[in-house]
Amino acid sequence: MLETTTAPPLTELANAFNGGLITDPTEMAPYLLDWRKRWQGKALAVALPDTTDDVATLVRWCKRHHIPLVPQGGNTGLSGGATPDTSGRSIVISLKRLNRIDPIDPLNNTVCVQAGAILQAVQEAAQQSGRLFPLSLAAQGSCTIGGNLSTNAGGVQVLRYGTARELCLGLEVVTADGDIWNGLRGLRKDNTGYDLKDLFIGAEGTLGIITAAVLKLFPLPVDTTVALVALDSIDQAMQLLTAVRSGNGANLTAFELMSGCCLSLVTRHFGTCQAPFPTLPAWVVLIEVSSFSHSTASREGLLACLEPALTSGLIADAVVSESAAQAKALWALRENISEAQALEGANIKHDVAVPISSIAQFVSVASHAITSQFAGSRMVVFGHLGDGNLHFNVSPPTHDVGATSPDFLKWQEAINTITHDWVHHFKGSISAEHGLGVLRRDESARYKSPVELALMHRIKQALDPDHLMNPGKVLPPTSEITPCADHH
Ligand code: FAD
Repeated sequence: MLETTTAPPLTELANAFNGGLITDPTEMAPYLLDWRKRWQGKALAVALPDTTDDVATLVRWCKRHHIPLVPQGGNTGLSGGATPDTSGRSIVISLKRLNRIDPIDPLNNTVCVQAGAILQAVQEAAQQSGRLFPLSLAAQGSCTIGGNLSTNAGGVQVLRYGTARELCLGLEVVTADGDIWNGLRGLRKDNTGYDLKDLFIGAEGTLGIITAAVLKLFPLPVDTTVALVALDSIDQAMQLLTAVRSGNGANLTAFELMSGCCLSLVTRHFGTCQAPFPTLPAWVVLIEVSSFSHSTASREGLLACLEPALTSGLIADAVVSESAAQAKALWALRENISEAQALEGANIKHDVAVPISSIAQFVSVASHAITSQFAGSRMVVFGHLGDGNLHFNVSPPTHDVGATSPDFLKWQEAINTITHDWVHHFKGSISAEHGLGVLRRDESARYKSPVELALMHRIKQALDPDHLMNPGKVLPPTSEITPCADHH
């Protein structure tokens, strides 16, 4: 039986948390605003449990008092999933105190970590034991494993190692009933019924709270080489991808695309970043190749693909790193794009996936549709070409730089619809790696089939019947569904 008290006894909860319950508005503030400063919420309190049992206690208390719970890790998510709504009725549960990293299991090549462990700390712990934890993204100094799994994060090494989902072998979860499911198994094979962990991964906190995970580790590469390549078209980038893949096999660890516009934004806003080409190319590809044995140096393998590509005119120019410092400098051109675009001012972002074979056509038709309707828009297109995932962003015309956000952002809805309708046309996804959160929640109803939406609502109802786990995120309200034609 649910109690629906208007003033729940927070003191009772505070006692259970040994000081880990924040109610002071100033202390709560950082937990109530998202990384992009786009969503500002309110909450009854912020809870910082430091054991899985405390998480379970909190969930049971919330269920008893019918209080919604918003899980939060590093609060670096880009879709507003970790921010409470403005009702002030929720409790934010920050997992950041649950940050233990167990010793690695060198024979099983796994490590068990708690959900609040910072991604970079996990990478460093693996490296100290001579292993690689390959999940890698620009927010790695702040984001947590729980957040990475809940958003099924991607990043720059998916091409070789897969997304967060593929790097996870087992989970511990506190369910919406406040039970603890210990599924911390380090198995590569386990066909014993429904894969529960795959339900919680990518659920953005709407089905339960991840408290720990068993992660896959890999050998550390013995050397890594990075090249920056100038090309005239995405078609040429695709041909180069095929050549580098067949010439380097599993040694290919990243293949990132950026438009010339991205390069000029980065060099303009980051004085330390220099473009290594005499003229601005239309497109640039950053390639990373790693080798895992001293007998196959990564540089030779990469050069063996780039030299004939240069001779045949497939690529216009290329620079290849000769040291770790040079490799880092080339990566900086890619990693600083988001920040450079933010420094430039208002922008409209899309995180889309289309089949790799359709990328060139998608970019061409969607860019044309946007620039012909909104003259002068600058297409800031970059992303993980090898995964078919593009950050297909739009910046205002140069003469509007410095314009207030509302001036440009009034185009947002129309530009989103153009972009996502084309994504849908190519059988793609409107959220490749950032999740739906609140940002893409309602739009997803336009592109998902009624059957898919109904199944998602039934899973939610089965696992969280009181709708207290991150309510208002991911699932579009059933009443607001206006499907796009041509469902596949
Ligand atoms: P939060 O932002 O705290 O939460 C994200 C979602 O997960 C929310 O819905 C939250 O409720 C839920 N959640 C968090 N912890 C738990 C838990 N323990 N149990 C259940 N639910 C939970 N993402 C990519 O995929 N690839 C990139 O390349 C990438 N680059 C980025 C670069 C920058 C500069 C920034 C700021 C972000 C980037 N992101 C990227 C997005 C973001 O970093 C990832 O989504 C990250 O995985 C979020 O982790 P977090 O701990 O910050 O989660």
